[in-house]
Amino acid sequence: MGKGGSAPGRKGSRFEAAVVQDQERERKLAYRLRQGGGCIVDVVSVEHCQDGHCTVNGSRVAHVYMIQCKVDGHLTGAERAALVAEASKVDAIPLLAARVNGGVRYELLTEPLGQPDTSDDLRDGARDARERQ
Ligand SMILES: [Zn+2]
Repeated sequence: MGKGGSAPGRKGSRFEAAVVQDQERERKLAYRLRQGGGCIVDVVSVEHCQDGHCTVNGSRVAHVYMIQCKVDGHLTGAERAALVAEASKVDAIPLLAARVNGGVRYELLTEPLGQPDTSDDLRDGARDARERQ
C-alpha cells in the first residue's frame, strides 16, 4: 500500500453507491453494509413481493437480495460459494453486480456444486459452505 494505494477501494466504494442507487430506482430499499471482517455481502436490498407467488396472503412478504459488487464482475469460486451459502440460510437471492457499459448488470448466482468449475479458488470456501449446511 503506497500512496494512492486506496484508489481501487474508492472505485469499488463508488460502485457500491451506484448499485444502491440502481436498486432504489427499481423501487427497492437498499443498504450498503460496512465492510471488513470478510463480509461477503456489499449491499442488501429488499423489495415488497408483488408476484403473488411466495404466499397466498401476500402480507409482510419481501424478497431479499444479497449483493456482492465487483466493478470488473470477477468473483472467485470461493466468494461465489460463500455468498450463495449465506443467502441460502434465509432464502435470500444472491446477486453479483458488475459495471457494464456505465450501468449495472446483475448475475443471479446459483449453487456452484456439481458444476465443472475450473476455478482453483473453490476449494476451501465451497467445502466450508457445504459443511455448514
Ligand atoms: Zn414473491
